[in-house]
Amino acid sequence: MKFSEVIGQEDVKQRLLRQLNEGRQPHALLLSGPEGCGGLAMALALGTYLLCEHSGPDDSCGECPSCRQIGKYGHPDLHFSFPIIRKSETTTCDDYMPEWNAMIREGAYFGLSDWIERTGAEGKQALIPDAEGDNILRKLSLTSYGGGYKVLIMWQPERLTASAANNLLKFLEEPTPLTVFILVSADASRILPTLLSRTQQIEMSPLSVTTIAAALKQRNGLSAEAAMEVARRAGGSYLAALRHISIDDESKVYFEQFVSLMRMAWARDVRGLSRWADEVSTMGRERQKSLLQYMQYLIRENFIYNFHQSELTYMTDEESAFALKFARFINERNVIDFMNELSQAQRDVEQNVNAKILFFSFALKLTVCIRK
Ligand SMILES: [Zn+2]
Repeated sequence: MKFSEVIGQEDVKQRLLRQLNEGRQPHALLLSGPEGCGGLAMALALGTYLLCEHSGPDDSCGECPSCRQIGKYGHPDLHFSFPIIRKSETTTCDDYMPEWNAMIREGAYFGLSDWIERTGAEGKQALIPDAEGDNILRKLSLTSYGGGYKVLIMWQPERLTASAANNLLKFLEEPTPLTVFILVSADASRILPTLLSRTQQIEMSPLSVTTIAAALKQRNGLSAEAAMEVARRAGGSYLAALRHISIDDESKVYFEQFVSLMRMAWARDVRGLSRWADEVSTMGRERQKSLLQYMQYLIRENFIYNFHQSELTYMTDEESAFALKFARFINERNVIDFMNELSQAQRDVEQNVNAKILFFSFALKLTVCIRK
């Protein structure tokens, strides 16, 4: 990753480059700042710059074997440590490297919850475990592969166990030459004070609205207007902005699924309903649950719409336009039935009932509800 690929944070880039070019590169650097401001991206850009074979005054070259290796499948002198879910006492970050490399390749803007979800261990507490402390010391004691720097990027050092942190202190007290430690923290106040005092801390600020909007336009293809709207709601975090756009895209799909389901249920189009069930059955459980939740919201909103109390409804323009014609089909005779069917479907999804059968029988029941 090049410095030019890091969103905003020009002052931090310049400071890092100045230090390096003046030969004042600290052996332990802490980049701290709220999630989504680009700490990990900056650490990767610095690591790439240190290992690049033809780095210029402002950036790595992006083309030498080192740069290409980092971009593709990792570099033997660039190491990573990050919070993981321990499978046994000997679990280290090495056991998660394929997932981690894949995640990094998709972009350096992700949060802890994204990472945990990727490892398939939702709901468990992620730490940098004891065994990883020894693993780091072992890696850093090796001679560098390329004869130059060795870099270790540690994401979220606030999640080090006490024993792993102590191992790290040993290294920081007697650093090996040409070894650079880059710590990236979303909450520096939770880092062990003895560790914190041995690092040079650089604070990264939340990104400005215009910086986020420009990135959304350029990287995510949003129109200038949409980019500004999403950026304003992102609170300085590009990550939050990314989450907003994916939720917006998602609800469009849900809306279309809702509309076609209701139309076919009214028309008693059994074939269409079977196709609808097939499509929904391939969506994955989490999205199926979100779809059912979204449908509960729309049924409720359409029911309320009949009372002509616009201050009580929260629909988007598209949803309201549909409600204008559809709301009369949701009335006091069937609203409870709709809600019951939706929550029953949600329970069935949670209990792993065969999705095709479940959604088809759910869709058929709606043909009865909607005509009440
Ligand atoms: Zn290079």
